[in-house]
Amino acid sequence: MKLKIETTKRVELIDITSEVQNDVMKKGVSEGICIISTRHTTAGIIINENESGLKEDILNLLQKLVPTDAGYRHNRIDNNADAHLRAVLLGASEALPIIQGKLELGTWQSVFFAEMDGPRSRTVNLTVLGSIGKKEENQEESDRKHT
Ligand code: ZN
Repeated sequence: MKLKIETTKRVELIDITSEVQNDVMKKGVSEGICIISTRHTTAGIIINENESGLKEDILNLLQKLVPTDAGYRHNRIDNNADAHLRAVLLGASEALPIIQGKLELGTWQSVFFAEMDGPRSRTVNLTVLGSIGKKEENQEESDRKHT
């Protein structure tokens, strides 16, 4: 499955948790893993808290660690070395467990697509692996256990 994302800024964090969760639920996998990955070299996938101040702090940290221009060699080609280097720090994928048909995320965890060289049209790939169990059957099973 693929998620299409239209980013609107050069650098931004976009919460994709509900889209990923919906696609996982559509797959009908009850127990398994979901790999969230991107093939782009100037974007990343991260998991953290969706709080506006923290999102600014994360972007400020990346700016501090990788300044916009520091004589990067790649800038001789297409002038976006900072975006590639920030993407290296973030990583291009995350894997999450699926438990009872849902992504196993902590209360404060969200999945973000991290745009480092937008605005662009982006794609996130979702690979879902696991065992398929119908909700009705699970319900019957838990009914049996309780009676
Ligand atoms: Zn480049």
